[in-house]
Amino acid sequence: HAPRPDSYLSGLNPAQREAVEALDGPVLVLAGAGTGKTRVLTTRLAHLLALGKARPWNVLAVTFTNKAAREMKERVARIVGPAAEQVWLGTFHALAARILRRHAEVVGLRSNFTILDADDQVRLLKQVLQAENIDDKRWPARVVMGVIQRWKDRGLGPEKITVAEAGDLAGGRLQDVYRQYQERLTTQNAADFGDLLLHNLTLFQTRPEILKDYQERFRYLLVDEYQDTNVCQYLWLRLLAQGHRNICCVGDDDQSIYGWRGAEIGNILKFETDFPGAKVVRLEQNYRSTSRILAAASGVIANNEGRLGKTLWTEGDHGDKVVVRGVWDGEEEARVVCDRIEDHQRKGVPLNQMAVLVRAGFQTREFEERLITLGVPYRVVGGARFYERKEVRDAVAYLRVIHQPDDDLAFERIVNVPRRGIGDTTMRAVHGYARTQGLSLTRSVDELVQTDELPAAARRNLKALMEAFGRWREAARTETLPDLARMMLDESGYTGSLQKDRSPEAPGRLENLKELVTALDEYETLGGFLEHISLVMENADDPAEAKVSLMTLHAAKGLEFDVVFLPGWEEGMFPNQRALDENGAAGLEEERRLAYVGLTRARKSVEIVFAANRRVHGLWQSAIPSRFVSELPGEHVEVVSEAGLYGATGGSYGGGGYGSAAQAGRRDGLSFGDREDDAGSFGAARSSRWESAGGVAGRGPGYLRRGGGSIRSRP
Ligand code: ATP
Ligand code: MG
Repeated sequence: HAPRPDSYLSGLNPAQREAVEALDGPVLVLAGAGTGKTRVLTTRLAHLLALGKARPWNVLAVTFTNKAAREMKERVARIVGPAAEQVWLGTFHALAARILRRHAEVVGLRSNFTILDADDQVRLLKQVLQAENIDDKRWPARVVMGVIQRWKDRGLGPEKITVAEAGDLAGGRLQDVYRQYQERLTTQNAADFGDLLLHNLTLFQTRPEILKDYQERFRYLLVDEYQDTNVCQYLWLRLLAQGHRNICCVGDDDQSIYGWRGAEIGNILKFETDFPGAKVVRLEQNYRSTSRILAAASGVIANNEGRLGKTLWTEGDHGDKVVVRGVWDGEEEARVVCDRIEDHQRKGVPLNQMAVLVRAGFQTREFEERLITLGVPYRVVGGARFYERKEVRDAVAYLRVIHQPDDDLAFERIVNVPRRGIGDTTMRAVHGYARTQGLSLTRSVDELVQTDELPAAARRNLKALMEAFGRWREAARTETLPDLARMMLDESGYTGSLQKDRSPEAPGRLENLKELVTALDEYETLGGFLEHISLVMENADDPAEAKVSLMTLHAAKGLEFDVVFLPGWEEGMFPNQRALDENGAAGLEEERRLAYVGLTRARKSVEIVFAANRRVHGLWQSAIPSRFVSELPGEHVEVVSEAGLYGATGGSYGGGGYGSAAQAGRRDGLSFGDREDDAGSFGAARSSRWESAGGVAGRGPGYLRRGGGSIRSRP
């Protein structure tokens, strides 16, 4: 199976071809979105094999996700056939694990070592902290875990942590904790994710002959999404590439979106210093998007200061203007987007060519509900569907027990979540009692806590839990559902445990819970809500079926769709407030790169949506459009609002974006026709309607519906 190079090279432009054909020596392809970087990498891989420059196992190719690895393998297989299977192709983690398994004994592991998940890691670290008598209130295991992970991202093992580095973390004993944590992992024949690469580094540093072996083996290295590598990954690549120096990295500084996870944009800038004589290829022609979409994306990203800057153009059609749509609230946002999805579907766009890309995971909920109602199949990529997420399931389990005390499965799920000293032994005793007496678990507990059959501590804790359930059942009769849920989440310690949790996932989990409270607001009774959930959960996944994709912007990197919806473009939501608070100007720039990634996923159509009002945690809040909306070049944007909603039929801005409140004075576009003084623009809206909407915060949907009436229809 030796395909003729012409058959796959002829489809490339000269710059791409140059990058594909420069097989020997270091090559950096630095180019904007959709210019064919991934395609270059794939073709280069095929070319290497077709020319016989390398056997499949002599090539190491790194992708950012497993999905990307699978796709690349398929594409290469189409050109060179089954040989593609034998290429070392995968994510950093997968490749590092594969190498580590072959030499595990060098770092004190056996080749069947376990790779721990995040929960296991924290549990293990907790044991270390306890043994060291470190106050876990002041130094929660998850906080400490985060610090250790960042060290690992930077390639620092415990021996490399200096006193200055460790500072007074955990009373100045963090280096020791780190060392002990690593020792325990080794004793258990386990590694965490960060270890995979770190152990590789140790392996290469302590056993030069093994490193040499890999340096010789990997005649060619290929790396996608290079802008998102962290220091540890970078060191690993550099060591491996030192042999033949045939390394080709492709990336886009404007798409660096993992700074919060230790990615170093500097790696891309250092490439030419690390690999002197590197060939740098720039690709400028975009093959993915229409020129309007490209102009919109370029307009937004131009507001970033720290960038290399590059040209992007396309021969493609102008296409339709980027739509910016203002809606009243989140529910309407979901309704409108899903209507548009159906419109596109009727016009022949397959569902798997449409995507809704959100900033934060919790935002998928309203879209999921609406898609289920419409019977439109969907898939949540890179994450669980909303009601299947762990924290949401936990909260729902509490609600099920409140509603139905004999729901044993739900009770078991949360009896010790968050941890409250009710261990396996206690639960075995409860189960035994339940079986012999023919009672449900909660009823067994009710009886057992009156006896002395359980250890005193467990008895006390179970009693407290049963009393809490009693209170919540009472509240279920007297309070609104959101209030009940808030009370339950607080009093059970669930919210508290997440607030203390410093893992990167914790804020997202808290947001999901808030979103659950918001969802509850739509139901009269707990029974009604639980019924709804069980129906939602039934919608099982069939991988073969064409589905709309819902995912976060982070998960969308490298992908493309005909039609992309970008909802939630409001200040605070996107740019995300936390990113701004924690990282200031750098945080804003990373958010803007995310906007760029989102816009450039689309081939033909992009619709941005913002809502004037959001219900957050069951409370209404007014919102103003994202600053990124005002950064879109006006001539490529069409502003629309739902007919009658704001009294405007829409129209496009005459150029220059929406500008400041002052300059925006009286332009056509999104207007709020019920009042003469604010019938104008975003600017006017900002100063009047948006703020006045703030006055209804917290008053619930009834008020808004009534209040909204006058806004919805033109007087
Ligand atoms: P991203 O930065 O988003 O990862 P990318 O630079 O990796 O983008 P690709 O995904 O490789 O870009 O390519 C974008 C699209 O353009 C793909 O559909 C690809 O098949 C197509 N494409 C790339 N190069 C060409 C070409 N020379 N002729 C036609 N289509 C091309
Ligand atoms: Mg790509």
